[in-house]
Amino acid sequence: MRWPWSWMSWLRDTLLRLFPHATRPGLRRVGDPGPESPVLLTGNFTLTVARVTRALAGHDAWLLVADSGGINVWCAAGGGHLTHHDVIAVLRSSGVAERVSHRRLWLPQLAATGVERRIVEERTGWKVGWGPARLEDLPAFLERGGQLKRAYRRMRFPLWERMEMALMWAAPTTLLVALVLWPLVGWPAAAAGAISLASVIFGIFAALRWLPVWGARRWLTYGGGALLATALASMADGGLHGFGTTHLAVFALASALAMMVLSIDLSGTTPWYPSTINTARNHFDLELDADRCTGAADCVLVCPRDVLAMTGARRKVAIVHPEACLRCGACVVQCPEDAFYFRFEDGRVVLATQIRKTRMNMVGRRSIQLGQS
Ligand code: SF4
Repeated sequence: MRWPWSWMSWLRDTLLRLFPHATRPGLRRVGDPGPESPVLLTGNFTLTVARVTRALAGHDAWLLVADSGGINVWCAAGGGHLTHHDVIAVLRSSGVAERVSHRRLWLPQLAATGVERRIVEERTGWKVGWGPARLEDLPAFLERGGQLKRAYRRMRFPLWERMEMALMWAAPTTLLVALVLWPLVGWPAAAAGAISLASVIFGIFAALRWLPVWGARRWLTYGGGALLATALASMADGGLHGFGTTHLAVFALASALAMMVLSIDLSGTTPWYPSTINTARNHFDLELDADRCTGAADCVLVCPRDVLAMTGARRKVAIVHPEACLRCGACVVQCPEDAFYFRFEDGRVVLATQIRKTRMNMVGRRSIQLGQS
């Protein structure tokens, strides 16, 4: 059971999750670790550190907290805020090497878009492996001695996590809408508008699997959400004051603005949908140069969607589920042979070197000069 302060810190961190919230980087003890205990790494987002520590309850481990700019691991790694430089820096400065008798470091799988495992190994002499994608699998992963099951690599997005994200969006959006509406329509109607909007946001996240939130049809979801929020607010307001066209117009505008903000998140930063940030003008896909592949399979270990698999007598990697690809770039970054790249419909390509340099995603750079092939 959580203590009230623990619930309060969860609520604070969840409501403010849109913004970086840093805790001190360095080495932490979890339980009573000794020289043989495993060493794990995470980013210095307060909520992440608290969750990793909680997930490790009952285990003895060393936890290295790297400077990720106060951002969660996946976003930080994708946006260039958590790189191999940050991992090397905390490995060297934390004193962990003096406390353990081994040189084995476990990285979170979702750091693979930004942390190049091979560079950490070359520069530090530590052996680096990937942990599971999800914290709930961390205890079982450690109990298996660091053996990764296929299920540990796959990202999921269960209802409770979707509700957390809904809360994260609903809180600032509805507060803003209420503050804007208040002087225009008075506080009872402003409260009706804010509550209606929050209900619609929670509804969208609950039904995420079945709603189009990616591609051209996504505007059905956001347009429908704005209409529903307007209708609910107007009904509540109508019950209080009688219907008025001015109030209706204000609710519609506020709902439409809130849905536009929401669309930024849902069209690119959930574990189910690929980003639309770089596909606004042109669609792109992951490509594999099979001649370059040597079957190292680093890519298979870091893919959060089981898109890749080893196949054939020559044991090479193949893209077996292209429809599931998030274009997260983890496989591109980790491939030692630079065998992966992204190709746009018009022939332009984004090579591994460009991905490593520019982090083309939501929190990284949005556009780069592309080559042709
Ligand atoms: S195959 Fe797609 S989802 Fe998997 S790691 Fe590569 S870019 Fe990411």
